[in-house]
Amino acid sequence: MSTYQVSLIPGDGIGPEVAEATRRVLEATGITFEWEYCDAGLDALEKHGNVLPEATLESVRRNGIGIKGPITTPIGSGFRSVNVGLRQELGLFANLRPGRSIAGVQSHYDNVDLVVVRENLEDIYAGVEFDTGTQDAADVIAAINERSKKQVAADAAISVKMITPGNSRRIVQFAFDYARQNGRKLVTAVHKANIMKYSDGLFLKIAQEVAAENPDIQFNDRIVDNMCMQLVQKPELYDVLVMPNLYGDIVSDLVSGMIGGLGVAPGGNIGEKASVFEPIHGSAPSHAGKNEANPVAMILSGAMMLRHLGEQGAAESVEHAVSKVIGEGSAVTYDLRADRDPAKAATTSGMADAIIAAM
Ligand code: NAD
Repeated sequence: MSTYQVSLIPGDGIGPEVAEATRRVLEATGITFEWEYCDAGLDALEKHGNVLPEATLESVRRNGIGIKGPITTPIGSGFRSVNVGLRQELGLFANLRPGRSIAGVQSHYDNVDLVVVRENLEDIYAGVEFDTGTQDAADVIAAINERSKKQVAADAAISVKMITPGNSRRIVQFAFDYARQNGRKLVTAVHKANIMKYSDGLFLKIAQEVAAENPDIQFNDRIVDNMCMQLVQKPELYDVLVMPNLYGDIVSDLVSGMIGGLGVAPGGNIGEKASVFEPIHGSAPSHAGKNEANPVAMILSGAMMLRHLGEQGAAESVEHAVSKVIGEGSAVTYDLRADRDPAKAATTSGMADAIIAAM
């Protein structure tokens, strides 16, 4: 049996605790891993003078596969998101976020089975921004006002929304390929092309072209606000949803809420040369260091990684064990309990022990 060399980025906040639980569960499948621990985030800034050290990027590039805990991004500071940086530096163009109900997780819905495919490299997330009152913002505003009938206020802060034909084609084709490989029937393109006629209009036009080239899978499109309402009212009508970056960020959290919250929502960032799996949730600072966070989202991200490596049997064994432990309802963390009382709940490591025992 081969040994997989995997870059492991524990992250910060609850990251190190859920990462350790995940490492133990993945090793309990019997597959052997050589973990290369990598720094990123505030700790990396202290140690290496950089929130995303070159050594971390180099490790993921070399191994082609990584698993990552969440990393804090202070709001409104000059500190760029490590998560966004990692996706951009490694060309991780597709963010795959499946949302499937797990029996025993409290939720208003009990039969959700959706997959959000989020474009990961461009849109308003690309990081091209100009702060209010700066000379650069003034120059950009002057250039826009010379060319546009609609005028931008002189004191506006500017974030640029970019949609390209190439990235749109690649992400929509990825959604069709995913649908085909996973026995899914329908791809829905989500957009706001009625308002952003050029950027989202381009995304929709390319999606329609790609759909015509993939006639074996059904296709439709929805405007993002209507999509959110329809997901809440009739999620059973939808299957694989593909969309630009910002809508994907928001809609995937909506879907996470429908399956019972961020504690059980996994994800993967897929690129042509490397892929990094990570839970959707953030670093949940109020739970950090208390051994009380739910490790399931990261453990299921590990199962997605196993599938990506072609280890279907091991992935299923992890997923079944997670479902069994949640279904039994005793060895679960606070967020999966009706009373949400950490004192009565299983710890992070305790839930991992129960999942390992169930395997
Ligand atoms: P969050 O996901 O950390 O927390 C949202 C809510 O869910 C909180 O109530 C939290 O306690 C709870 N929660 C999240 N994960 C949980 C888990 N595993 N077990 C139990 N409860 C859990 O989102 P936030 O508060 O908006 O963000 C906190 C920080 O994380 C911010 O700095 C943000 O930028 C960062 N973030 C990082 C990533 C990432 O690394 N990919 C993703 C999202 C947010």
